[in-house]
Amino acid sequence: MNDVAKLDAGEFRQWLYQHIDAERNAGSTPVVCGDCLACCRASYFIHVAANEKQALASIPKPLLFTAPGMAPGHYLMGYDQQGRCPMLKQQQCTIYSKRPLTCRQYDCRIFTATGINPKEVEKKEIAQQVQRWQFTYADAAAQALHQSVKRAASFLQDHGEQFPKQFMPGNSTQLAALAINVHELFVSESASNQVDSMIQQIIESMQQTSLTKKIKNTEAAGGR
Ligand code: SF4
Repeated sequence: MNDVAKLDAGEFRQWLYQHIDAERNAGSTPVVCGDCLACCRASYFIHVAANEKQALASIPKPLLFTAPGMAPGHYLMGYDQQGRCPMLKQQQCTIYSKRPLTCRQYDCRIFTATGINPKEVEKKEIAQQVQRWQFTYADAAAQALHQSVKRAASFLQDHGEQFPKQFMPGNSTQLAALAINVHELFVSESASNQVDSMIQQIIESMQQTSLTKKIKNTEAAGGR
């Protein structure tokens, strides 16, 4: 019997559209993290953009280094030997109200939604939290919507090696983000059958939405 306490992840369709909107418009989706600090202890590099003046002013300069491959003024903040963000002290984020957008946008429900397992060893705590989230569905269409997200994730996992290298994310976080972004291509149950055609459609969708550039930038910035 599974005795892990479940957490309410919200209604699936509402969550999905809110998440996509936040991601595309530099907003954030509220996440009821409770006392979970898994993503602050998961060896993520934290990107701090050039225009995040409050965050930049709150983080001691020695903790920031120039983000490789990005425009001048963009920084990364690293982590300690245990994978913890240096702004985490006594189980609390010491700059919570001024934390970078990277932190505001992070939502581990993308793993629950896609069924992608954050299998990197340093993300073990996140994987545990992902098991706890449970979505609800307003109707059958919301359940079908979730199936399209899962089909997209399965397709990317099964055929990732057939994509040109520059189009395929190198870590689980970005892979889940990609599956969510291309889920509309997988509305039909048979969408995955035409592999070559689907790979082409995904690449075109990524090019139209500048997703390739975003994924590469995010990976350069530590993958969060
Ligand atoms: S800045 Fe705050 S919210 Fe972001 S990773 Fe560090 S401790 Fe967590």
